[in-house]
Amino acid sequence: MKPNYRRCVSCKKLAPKEDFLRIVRLKKSSTIRLDRGEGRSAYICPEIECLQIARKKNKLGRSLKTYVSPEIYQELWQRLKKSSSKNTKDDD
Ligand SMILES: [Zn+2]
Repeated sequence: MKPNYRRCVSCKKLAPKEDFLRIVRLKKSSTIRLDRGEGRSAYICPEIECLQIARKKNKLGRSLKTYVSPEIYQELWQRLKKSSSKNTKDDD
């Protein structure tokens, strides 16, 4: 794996870590944070599909080995909405 490349927990796509949303389980605790923090991290594409898969199959919870509350998923949804409103054109 190239340095700074990460894998999405849902679709397993490899991409530079900046392309992903980062979910962190803080060291020596089961507190979950987004973006920042030191500890075990999981990465997910800023895509609705990936978030749906992650929620349905508990991908984040499994990857981080702790319970990921619905609030965390809510927060991720909010991020998606914000970033997709910035870029309304569907020119992938
Ligand atoms: Zn993905």
